[in-house]
Amino acid sequence: MTTVTFDSVRRTYPGADRPAVAGLDLHIADGELLVLVGPSGCGKSTTLRMLAGLDQNDDGRILIGDRDVTNIPPKDRDIAMVFQNYALYPHMSVADNMAFALRLAKVSKAERDSRVAKVADMLDLTPYLNRKPKALSGGQRQRVAMGRAIVRSPQVFCMDEPLSNLDAKMRVRTRTDIAALQAELGVTTVYVTHDQVEAMTLGARVAVMRDGELQQVDTPLALYDRPANEFVAGFIGSPQMNLLSGVAGENGIRVGGALIPLRTTARGPVTVGVRPEDWQITTDADGLDLAVTLVEKLGSDSYLYGMSELDGTTRTVVVRAPARTTTLKGDGLRLVPDPERVHLFDAVTGVRIN
Ligand code: ADP
Ligand code: MG
Repeated sequence: MTTVTFDSVRRTYPGADRPAVAGLDLHIADGELLVLVGPSGCGKSTTLRMLAGLDQNDDGRILIGDRDVTNIPPKDRDIAMVFQNYALYPHMSVADNMAFALRLAKVSKAERDSRVAKVADMLDLTPYLNRKPKALSGGQRQRVAMGRAIVRSPQVFCMDEPLSNLDAKMRVRTRTDIAALQAELGVTTVYVTHDQVEAMTLGARVAVMRDGELQQVDTPLALYDRPANEFVAGFIGSPQMNLLSGVAGENGIRVGGALIPLRTTARGPVTVGVRPEDWQITTDADGLDLAVTLVEKLGSDSYLYGMSELDGTTRTVVVRAPARTTTLKGDGLRLVPDPERVHLFDAVTGVRIN
């Protein structure tokens, strides 16, 4: 059982004009499952690879527990990685794949067999122990890859987009399995994904990264309710939060025809964030006019997409509506946001204001 600490960790690849990871500070508690999420290319894999020792940080320190592992080779870090491409040995049985690292570590045959049997049971892989990987489904292969990491009983698991190769249904099932298994084993885990839904459902804490820089580390709900900046606001949640230009004054915030009665010390241009579910449709004179261009009926809800005139430009706005909405394409609506649920960001820096 252990913690993981990134202390001002930096990595610039040779020839790159900016760092892939730019001074990362992050502490992961003992037994925690931390999810690192961000768009492709933001530095997630580099972060994991540095933790595992597969890539060398050129500044800062990485600690596992109290031990500075910055200059320790991968094999001495006691970390097990699970990748997107399962990288199983095709000519070996499931049992041999799972036992491979133990054999390298000179663990006795009896001990290997007993550990593999126990983990196979945990992962429902017992009937497949003698099969070769090619005779398994994608989900089963992914479980073998997990099993191979688990039998080593490492101090830390690193998982890099482990579900990306699975179809949508299998991904959801395996995601639940991973969460349950991680909780049961209590092994400190860093889980990387570009999928914000996966991040929100899996992590007790989620770290959002962009362009090599950590944006916010928080619980899924806190990220959703109080995003630290416009980037996190837009990245977390689907459909995306509406981010509209507004003007803050003494009486509130004006967005198009709507005056939001919100007290703020901000004055002048601001970015106003409204989640699709936080609009109300109104018949009042004041409101943001929307010309509906698309009605998406999902069964549980509907989403109305439309155009609004703001600051002389036409902006797309999305509104959540009841499942059986009678609104049609071509309709005009007037919207006001729930003032309690409005997010304000600095128009220039994008940083949260209130
Ligand atoms: P992510 O996993 O979030 O998609 P990566 O950590 O793989 O992002 O990459 C971060 C940045 O570093 C990207 O701009 C990528 O192009 C660059 N990069 C990653 N690996 C290498 C490498 N081996 N050599 C040079 N640049 C790399
Ligand atoms: Mg990656």
